[in-house]
Amino acid sequence: MRVHVLPSGLIHTNAYLLTPAGGGQAVLIDAPGEVWGKVAPILERERSSLGSLWLTHGHWDHTQGAAEVVRRTGARVVAHRDDRVLLETPGIMLEIAGPGLELEPVRVDLWAEDGQALEALGQKVRVGHVPGHCPGSLMFYFADEASLFSGDVLFRGAVGRTDLPGGSFEDLERSIRTKIYSLPDETRVFPGHGGPTTVGEEKADNPYVNG
Ligand SMILES: [Zn+2]
Repeated sequence: MRVHVLPSGLIHTNAYLLTPAGGGQAVLIDAPGEVWGKVAPILERERSSLGSLWLTHGHWDHTQGAAEVVRRTGARVVAHRDDRVLLETPGIMLEIAGPGLELEPVRVDLWAEDGQALEALGQKVRVGHVPGHCPGSLMFYFADEASLFSGDVLFRGAVGRTDLPGGSFEDLERSIRTKIYSLPDETRVFPGHGGPTTVGEEKADNPYVNG
């Protein structure tokens, strides 16, 4: 599969558009504001359509573009039910996001569970529930590709903030140790902000949670 990194929106949140070689059904991981303008030309060029939108969590900077993506494509939305309130009543985040932002509710088609297997791009993808940054944080693990999409749980040299409503450093640390650091060291990690890293590098050098 091809991984297109599409930083979008006010704080350059990474969206990842995963497209199959040769065209077919693509998957979008997270939908920051205005992401559709970056997704559309790639889908057209690669003769692909968007089948699914997977949300790593309900924070506004990952979901602001979701309603537009769904309107344009009919993509099925996957998220965790512990972020249901954020997704369905995003206006409660305006205090954090800043007034004047337009945040539309996101309609979720599938509430994914920890350990659930999803099928995409001809492979099995394992969902992990990794609370701590957000109660409904999810990660998506492509074992065949040795690739993990970690949302705002783990970054290169950092971890997600835990001072927002529903955050907990204790939960975050447990999520990282049990769900991420248990993956093979060579697993590439694609986070919600900043550049990629690997499980092995973070286990060795992450100053907040080391292996
Ligand atoms: Zn977040």
